[in-house]
Amino acid sequence: MSLQIYLAGKLVPQEQAVVSVFDHGLLYGDGVFEGIRVYGGKVFLEDEHIIRLYESAKSIRLEIPITPAEMTQAVRDTVAANNITDGYVRLVVTRGAGTLGIDPARTSNPQVIIIADKISLYPQELYDNGMRLITASTIRNHSGALSPRIKSLNYLNNVLAKIEGTDAGTVEALMLNHKGEVAECTGDNIFIIKDGVLKTPPPEAGILEGLTRGAVMKLATEAGIEVRQTPLVRHDIFVADECFLTGTAAEVIAVVSLDGRIIGSGKPGPITADLLERFRKLTRS
Ligand code: PMP
Repeated sequence: MSLQIYLAGKLVPQEQAVVSVFDHGLLYGDGVFEGIRVYGGKVFLEDEHIIRLYESAKSIRLEIPITPAEMTQAVRDTVAANNITDGYVRLVVTRGAGTLGIDPARTSNPQVIIIADKISLYPQELYDNGMRLITASTIRNHSGALSPRIKSLNYLNNVLAKIEGTDAGTVEALMLNHKGEVAECTGDNIFIIKDGVLKTPPPEAGILEGLTRGAVMKLATEAGIEVRQTPLVRHDIFVADECFLTGTAAEVIAVVSLDGRIIGSGKPGPITADLLERFRKLTRS
């Protein structure tokens, strides 16, 4: 079935949803994006995603041609036009078409693209039994080069790390920062539980401040679990009692080994299971 895509202010059939080959989003990865869930017909963390999109754009000096309120409405309209009650929205803003040089001053018409579709999840088996992880040799972008806090169209370092995971037979891969500390995975944030305390790397570790990460930290605090944003190294994960990842698509998923070291009992842990249940309640109620 053909999807209705929001492009240049209109909903058009996907076959007609095309952008210029001179768009700097394509030529240079010059643009920003968001991935958003829809649960029960409602856009989850709608304001937070819109705010993060405009903050990413501000950081790369990209002026989005519509207001946040118009963007919110466009997302809702695209979801409705495709009859999505439970699904995924991809929101992309490119720099627009320009010359073959990188100069953004010589581009015009930033493109706002919204795709609302069904979601593809990790296999259920991984939720039941937990996933294995390897550490990629590709490090996360140095924040002095391109801040990971910007959700930009430059995902090549994550793509390279993902390939390392695939080569090793894992669906995700852990990325370290330039200091050798744990940052995040290629498309998910990472948490551990040690002695009842929930720990995750702080933004300064060079991570995308995942909105699922934020929601899970809030749920944990409400559940009386101490939450600490603190630098972590691989050893902390090896000796953790539990480990899990969070992300828009993944929600909450247990990690049971890293680089061949079994984490905790080798099965999804009780706090992970409790947080997943709380997250499901939050999103499905
Ligand atoms: N880190 C990276 C690099 C990501 O691309 C994502 C989003 N897929 C996340 C973390 C998780 O962020 P969120 O919970 O907002 O989806």
